[in-house]
This record gives sequence, structure tokens and C-alpha cells, in this order.
Amino acid sequence: MTSETGTNWLSPSVDRRTFLKVSGTLASVAAAGSVFTISTRPVAAQTAADPAGVMTGENLPDELETAQDIIYSVCQMCHSRCGIRAKVKEGILVKIDGNPYHPNNRDVFINEAGDFQPDRLSYDTPPTDAFTELGRVCLKGQAGVQTVYDPFRIQHPLKRVGPRNSGEWETISWDQAFMEIADKIDQLIPPGERDEDIDPAIPELGTKRNLLAFAPGRSVEKEMSDRIWKHAWGTVNYGLSHTSVCESTRHVANELITWDPSGSKTSLGAGRSAGWQPDILGSKYIIFFGANPLEADFPMVGMARDLMEFKRHGGEYVSVDPRFNNTGAKASQWVPIKPGTDAALAMGMISWIIGEGAYDTRYLENTNKAAAAKDGEPTWTDSTYLVGTFFDDEGKSFQRYVTAGEAGIADGTVSDDDYVVWSGGGPAGHNKVEHGDLDVTETLPLNGVDVDVVVQSAFALLADAAFSMSLSEYAAICKVSEDTMASLAEKFVSHGKQAAAITYRGPIKHTNGLYNQWAIQHLNTLIGNYDWKGGCTAGAGGWGHKSGVVSLSKVAGDPGAEGLRIDRAMSFYNEQEAPNLFEGYPAKRPWFPFGTHGNYQEVIPSLQDGYPYRLKALITYWNAWPYSVPALRKVWERTVADMKKLPLLVTISPVMGEVAAWADYVLPDTVYLEKFSVPGIPWRVNKGTAFQRPVVGAFDEAAIGAIGGVGNTIPVDDINEYSPVLPNTRAVLDIHIGLAKALKLPGVGDDALLNESGKPAGDLNNSWDWARAMLDNIAHNAQGKHPGVTAEEILSKGGVFDNPNDEYTATTNGDQLSYQYGNIIRMFGDPVARTRDSVTGEYYSGVPHYKPLAHSDGTAVNDGGDYSFKLITYKTVHHGQARTNVNPWLMLMMPENFVEISAIDAAALHVETGDQVKVASRSKGIKEIRGKARVTQGLIPGVVAISHHYGHWEQSSRPHTINGDGDALGHDSSRGAGMQATQIMRTDKLYDNVSLQEPIGASCSFYDTWVKVKRA
Ligand code: SF4
Repeated sequence: MTSETGTNWLSPSVDRRTFLKVSGTLASVAAAGSVFTISTRPVAAQTAADPAGVMTGENLPDELETAQDIIYSVCQMCHSRCGIRAKVKEGILVKIDGNPYHPNNRDVFINEAGDFQPDRLSYDTPPTDAFTELGRVCLKGQAGVQTVYDPFRIQHPLKRVGPRNSGEWETISWDQAFMEIADKIDQLIPPGERDEDIDPAIPELGTKRNLLAFAPGRSVEKEMSDRIWKHAWGTVNYGLSHTSVCESTRHVANELITWDPSGSKTSLGAGRSAGWQPDILGSKYIIFFGANPLEADFPMVGMARDLMEFKRHGGEYVSVDPRFNNTGAKASQWVPIKPGTDAALAMGMISWIIGEGAYDTRYLENTNKAAAAKDGEPTWTDSTYLVGTFFDDEGKSFQRYVTAGEAGIADGTVSDDDYVVWSGGGPAGHNKVEHGDLDVTETLPLNGVDVDVVVQSAFALLADAAFSMSLSEYAAICKVSEDTMASLAEKFVSHGKQAAAITYRGPIKHTNGLYNQWAIQHLNTLIGNYDWKGGCTAGAGGWGHKSGVVSLSKVAGDPGAEGLRIDRAMSFYNEQEAPNLFEGYPAKRPWFPFGTHGNYQEVIPSLQDGYPYRLKALITYWNAWPYSVPALRKVWERTVADMKKLPLLVTISPVMGEVAAWADYVLPDTVYLEKFSVPGIPWRVNKGTAFQRPVVGAFDEAAIGAIGGVGNTIPVDDINEYSPVLPNTRAVLDIHIGLAKALKLPGVGDDALLNESGKPAGDLNNSWDWARAMLDNIAHNAQGKHPGVTAEEILSKGGVFDNPNDEYTATTNGDQLSYQYGNIIRMFGDPVARTRDSVTGEYYSGVPHYKPLAHSDGTAVNDGGDYSFKLITYKTVHHGQARTNVNPWLMLMMPENFVEISAIDAAALHVETGDQVKVASRSKGIKEIRGKARVTQGLIPGVVAISHHYGHWEQSSRPHTINGDGDALGHDSSRGAGMQATQIMRTDKLYDNVSLQEPIGASCSFYDTWVKVKRA
């Protein structure tokens, strides 16, 4: 079969040629319809400030559609997880719009009086009235139609017949695939040996169960994969996911700011919140550092709409970014900055704010929750807590909080381990006094310490760090002038709590990313804007789906998952936690004790080195390792080509991607429009739980969206065996269940689902059983807000959501948000400051500061010579990560990417737009990529920028042979157009099979590679 001879796989009445014609028509309709049509907002809600006829970019509903045609689900064309409204005619998905109940896709708007007015549909609106209402989605969301109807999807389970990556396959049945994979796993890790130690001499590695790993690049079905691979199989490597290529350092930095020493993720505790976003609509002034909410942040559609509303009512926002992107174009001010120097700008601003006394003293002096509450503050800080400088057995200095027991103030009302503040001229327990002194430096005798100890308040430590350089020194580092720095700080503090400083990948994807995030985030701490309207929100969250009626994680016979992960995340490299692996410094490979989101870039290099052990079986899902991870491609190819290093590779993927091409077995799963999941709504101030469900395919052979078929609810008591659009593919939930059954694991089958008491609560034989359990949990947990809500209602509205304005007008909190974090904010990173880096052996700093970019051994990142340009990447609004090159509408918007170069640099290099250029680095992997130049005024000189979506070498850009047919899947070489900058990103000097990394949050570096640029 070739790409032009597709058979009739869409429906009995639509062949591939017909579909391509139809989809071409749909493309032009979508393109025309998405631009500047008239708002569907009810006329009664429109005001002079929001006149009827405002050109908003919305689509009008189709006059022919009925409530029966509309099915609500969740978009996954990017990570914003918007609610979608799928129009399905006669079983065919013809159009995707936004779910009007969902807060990402319809929100509130502000009228002329400055009042918030509802725009989103009330949750009480019945679906029969809602079907004429549209929410908004972006162009990627609309193009999702082409993801499900991609003509090059894999249609049958495949078994490799040539060498790995030979592109030679045979089709096999699902039964054969499951049985062969289970047999191979049983041979590699025999059932009778699974509870033996990997190495009896190193028991901290754990048992042989850890030799199987599940690596979802991205997963929104985490509860199922955790259930099968953590709780039924018992490996600690149950979720080696992608977050460290994305934003894990941002998460970790924020977790450290909200640290709970009694948390369970690491032996020193865990964070309470991983992120902050601005409450845009309530704000007056926002500074975005390396964030692009009009194109790529998340939730992008929701943030972009809110930002335009914010601007319409006088809000000002600033874009701090080396590149003038669409967010910069709409900003009040673009502040171009040298990549990797964000902390220099933020610390300069902090020094201005502290120097001027422009911080919120009243907020920062509060020592505990009760004191904060008395002041009307939802949060409090550790600003007044005393931190001592101590010395370890080797004489190395480090810092940590001082305890009340050490200060000799513990009594019946102050516990030994309480924090200590300075109040009334001496130390006091933080719960004993309401306010402490902010700027404290003292020397104290401490119980159990031989010498007097210098103690400082966390605020004094921050101030000292900020004043360690002058504004002119900071300006010289970040290339932002002193005047600009001071004016940003002055404007930031001039709006009370209605201002926010927010980051995304720009500041954190550097080797110094954690300190960049801390420095920027503490601008917010200085004005105390947490949980205030217009300030920072940790998000309202949703109604839980993991427990309530059914405990999704409880498995009878759970063997427990213990030991060291292959990426050494969340384990400390020291004699206490790794007595048989600790061999001094540097460690054989780096460890990441605070890597609570894992370390994706370390997995394959660790496999190559066999440290701390090698895997026997690796199952991947939604994973583009060699494409998306900096400098990994060559290491991937060398490692995976060696059957001894990785005896079994199984890939779950709907397309022949860069990982699938190397697999022994490819299990073709469905796309997001054919799946159940509860993906979570990112960082909204409104509470809600969206429910993702198949919008095409059939349940028990009744087609979705067909006359007499399944509509926007699913008959909840039926078996509901799901058949996807391509009948021999399977939803990933069903693949997990099939593999678990073949491996004879507990946790699946009749009566496998348990309630919190461990009593049977249902069967787990297909994906609907799982979906039903999640729906029942959500309905149970949402009763308090929406009494009587049922599984059917949740399905019929795409989830369960707050009513419009609940986050604002229904609050009793005045100027505060309804949903609050309400806990401590820490300026001092106590657990980090107690920890030694596994490579250098030095203690980390617990205080934000500007830290130069460095290799793992601490030496500067500087390749000298001609390598004088910094390489950065960015996302365009047309694409999301590695997966959207299969959407022709999106590729047509921009068929290839460019090497963007500033006009000043281009003139010096005699390069013009359209010229072919070479971009080369000193990476140990691939050293050069080539592409077309685009000369721009919108880039700081000394930097080149390449978008991160192009340059695939698989994803159906080349032929594969199946059952002897040389191009059985079909292919389109235009899917491989353009360049992928990760290929040439810099490897670390000491560990030269991995990229540069940020050592605390465990992110790989994306923006620290020095390159040379020449005309090709
Ligand atoms: S922003 Fe992301 S989730 Fe929302 S519609 Fe666009 S692609 Fe889908």
C-alpha cells in the first residue's frame, strides 16, 4: 500500500481521497471562519465597552447542527488542555471549537465600570441550550481533526523483522503482541526472581522489578500507568516522563518556596505547590520573564484572552525576552535580555525595592499563620526566620534554619524544632510572637554547636545577595540598563498587590535556572501578592478523580516499589541514603535529590553507562526522546542499537515516531480524540475538572455521533467496549490492561477496582471501566458545589466547572481570590542549602542570586573562538512540541522554520533572509545543522533563534516496510522539513553523553549552547 492508495478506513462511505478533499475544504472553512467573525456573546451582555460586532476571532455555530452532534472533550494539541466541542456528523468529526462551559475557552469580561461580567456558560445551562454556544480554541486546536484522520497513522501492531531502526516490520495480532511481549519480559525478569535484589551488594538499588521501566514522554493517563507499573508490577521506574525537558526546574523552585518538611517525596520533604500564574483579570501590571502567553504558555487560549481584556481596561504588561515575539509585540514594553541572566535583572530590581524600602513590611514581618490571618493575609513568609552558617566534619560551610532547641528557647509552648525569629532584642519561637525583625544579623551561642554561630534572617540573606552587586554590575551582565531596571521595579511596586512577575521556560532552561526562578518569584514575595486578586495564584484545582468512590491506585497484592530510580531522581548521594554507591565526588553520574519531576535526559545516558544499573525492558508512550532531548540523538542510537544494553524496547504510539522506529514492538494507540482521561486544568483561578472522552469511534458497535448511535453522554451501565476510528488500534488504557493481563499482574480483571477500604468496587476489563470509576469519583467529590451532579451530566458538559464569577464575585474575601494557597512562602531554600552537589561536592546556596552558567563540574560554559552566538529556541503559535507536524493545516501556515538572526549580526556575516546558513556547536553529538536565515530587528544581537517543532526524521517523513511492502504506511517528506536545534545543543564537559543540566531542579539546558553561524 502507498500513501495514495489508502483504503476505506474512515467509514464505510468515505475513502481516503474523498476525506482528503473534504478536509481540504474544511481547512479553508476553518481558516476563513477563524478570523474576525462576530462574537456570539449574548446581546444582553454586551455594553458600550464591549459592543456587539466586536471582531473577536470566534466562529459561528453551524445552522444545521443539533445538540446531538456536539460532544465535549479536551484538547491535547498542546499542554493547555482546553475544553473542546467536537461536531460529529454521521460518525465523522468535522469541526472542533471550544467548550463554552470551560474556563480556558470562555471566561469573564470586564465592563466599563470595571465589573467582571460572565461570559462563560453557567454550569446549570442544559446541553440542549448550550449547543449553539461556542468557546474559543486556537488554530492548533482546530487542526486536531487532522490528527485523528492522519492518513499515515499505524493501523496494526507491528513486530520488528530487520535490525533495530531498519524500518522493516510485520503486522501481528494484539493477542500475539501481548503474549510475545509478556513472554520476553518473563524471560528477561523471571517471575520467581523479581523480588531478588538487582545486586545483593547494593541493596539500595532495589529489586529486579526495577529493571522494567515505563517512560511516557507525556502522559495524561498517569493514574493507570502508575497503577499497572508501580502498584501491580512494582518498579520505581514507573513514570520516566518528559518534564525535565520542559519546566521541571520551575516546578522544583516553586516547590522549594512552598516546602513542607513533612512531605513524602524526598527524605527532606516535598513542596506544596509547583507553580504560580498571574490572576490576569484582576491585575494592573504584569512582567513576563521568558514567557509567551500569546503563543505558547499554558493555558494559552485562556491567558491570551484574559490579557487582551486586561489591556482593554488599562493593564500594562512587560515582556522580558531576548526575542520580540507576539507577546512582546502587544506589550507596553519589550525588555530584550541576554539569555541566562534573568537573575541579574531580578536581583537588580530586588536591590532597588529593598534599597527604597518599597516592600510590604507588614506582610513580611508576620511570623505564622495566625499572625497573617490577623492582618488579613492568606499567606506568611519565613522572612524573619533565623538561618545559621554551620560547618560540617570536613570544615565546609553550609546554611540551615536554626531551631528553638538550639537557641535554648524551647519550653512548654515552643517546640524543640520550631523556627526562631528575632523579636524584642532576642530570639523567640516563630509561633510565640506575631512579628519578627526583618533585617537581622547576630552571632549566637547555640546548643550542640561548639562555636558561636552567625545567624541572619532570611530577609537579610536575600538583601545581602541582592546588594552583593551594584545595579551597574547587574546591568552589565544582563544588558538591561540601570534606568530600565529601576523603572521596572518602581512600576512593579506601585500597584499594591495587583502586580505579578511571572516566568516560563525562558529563565529556567539554563544551568542557573533555579536561581533565576527564585529571584523572579521573590519579586512577588516582596509585595505579598499571593492569593490576592491581580497577584499570584497557585490555581484553584478541581474536583478529584483519583479517589472518592474508587481508589485508582489501590491494588490487591501490590508488591511495593522501592529502590533507586535509574535517573537518580529524589535520592540523595550520601552515605546515609546510598551507603554502597557513595564514593566521594564527583559521582559516576550526577544525582538529583530534588528532581521531583524526574530526569528525562539522564535515562538513556545512564543506560549506556550502566549506572546505577541497566534496564532489561523499556516500554515507552508518547515519547520523542532523541528528537526532543538536547544532544541525545547519537547517544540514543548507539545505546538502543545494542541489544545487550537494552534487550527489549516496546513503544506505544499512533505514528511511526523517532522512538517507535527503533522499537521491537510498536503498539498503535489512539489519538487524544479517542481516549478517556482527566488531564487537569492548568492554573486557573476558577475551579474545574474537565473530562476527556472519545469523540469518534464506537461503543459496543454504536458509532459516536451517528443517528441512533452514542451522543454526548455514554450509556453508563453498558459494557462500552470501545472501537477506535482505526479498528485495529487500541486506546492506551486498553493497552495497559492487555499487557497487565498477559503478564498475569494483579490490579486488572473482575473485581480488581477497590474502594478506599480495599473492598471490591468494580471490574477493570476495559477503558470504560476506568472512565466510569473516574466519573463516579468526580461526581462524588463535586457534590458540595453541584449537588446531584452525575456521571452523565459530567460527560454531557465536558466536565464539572465553577459557575462564572465564582472566583471573584462569590468570594467573601474582598480583594482576595476565592481559591487560595494559604500557606508559607519561603525565601530561604533550607533543604537545598543542606545538600551537597553530587558532582562538585559543594553545598548549594539557599538564597537567590545571579550564578554564571556552568558545566556540571562548575567550569564556565564558554566555547570561545568563533562560537560567539547563543542559541535559543521558541515555540510558534502554529505548533505544539514534537507532535503537530502531522497536521497539514499547521504545516501550511509555515512549511519550515528559520535561523533567526539580528539585523546587526546578519550585516556583519553578510547574511540575508533566505540564505542557507550553517549553525555549528562544540557538542559531542551532532555538530551542525543547516537552514534558511531570517534576518530580524526583533532579536538581541549575539543570539540566534530556531523554533522547536520542525526537523523530524521520522513521523512518516520516510518510508517503512511492512509485510514486504516498501512504503506500507505511506509517507510525506514535507513532514521532515526544517531543523531541530536540540541536535546540536551542548553536551556537558564531564559527562559528555548528556546535555548541560540544571542540577537542582534536574532540567536539561535549552538556551546555553554557544554556536558559530556561517553562510552555507
Ligand atoms: S491552546 Fe492548546 S489546548 Fe488550547 S486549543 Fe490551542 S492547542 Fe488546544
